[in-house]
Amino acid sequence: MNEFINVEHAAWALGVSKPTVYSLIRSGALTASAGPRGQLVSRSEVMTVATKRRVDAVHRHRDLVAYARQLRATIWPPEPAKVVLSDGREQVRDVDDVNRYMNTPKGRDALHRLDNDAVAVFGPAVIHTLADLKSLKTAGACAWCWSRDLAAVRGGISPSDNAATRVLLGEPCARDLAEWGANRDQVRALWADVKKDDLKRRADDDKTARRREVEAARADADRATRRLDLAITAAGTNRTAESARYLKEAARKRAAGHEDIARHLESVAARLERGAQR
Ligand SMILES: [Zn+2]
Repeated sequence: MNEFINVEHAAWALGVSKPTVYSLIRSGALTASAGPRGQLVSRSEVMTVATKRRVDAVHRHRDLVAYARQLRATIWPPEPAKVVLSDGREQVRDVDDVNRYMNTPKGRDALHRLDNDAVAVFGPAVIHTLADLKSLKTAGACAWCWSRDLAAVRGGISPSDNAATRVLLGEPCARDLAEWGANRDQVRALWADVKKDDLKRRADDDKTARRREVEAARADADRATRRLDLAITAAGTNRTAESARYLKEAARKRAAGHEDIARHLESVAARLERGAQR
């Protein structure tokens, strides 16, 4: 199945601006083809980018439940919320005002700017549903069903049942729970992928750290060798049998970057220096 969507649709699904979608096209992350009204991109490629963005964003927010609480409080502060204006006056934030604002293009725009990672982590459907939460509640609609339908129609990552998303949308309805029962394995496989990616990243980090350690040990050994050379000159021993032996050992072991050779050379150098001082 190779479905194509326009740039505006892709921007919504990724929670980014249209210029960002064009830059993704230029960078090669998305392949564009010419459509009747502008460029088209493949829906599956958009979802690949969305998943990658999600994995990256999840790395920045280890405690997703706390992050969800923070996002919810940003859009829906505990009521009544007093806002102190720049001239010092206090204004009580009206829920209906927030509702009206969120339904304007400006409000939607503010929502996207709320936090770059919010849409990446939870998907646009969940964040937009969060903005509509109070009106959905008034209408007696289930936020989970709403956001799932929104994702099906407009694209982007669909809501998955976890503690953090429940903080944002509240408790799911019976229909949602039944549906997740059927999709549980698929959802688990997705999270297993995220975790696998995380482990791989950590292993890569460890490898880099080890390489740096070896490089540092090698630099220490080089420094110690230079110090020994100086000590030999100062002591005027003219490369005694002992220092020659250590230098040979150094040449052999230096390549392995062993820290102990640096310590050996330091001690020999110190001994030679003491001898020179006497
Ligand atoms: Zn529901």
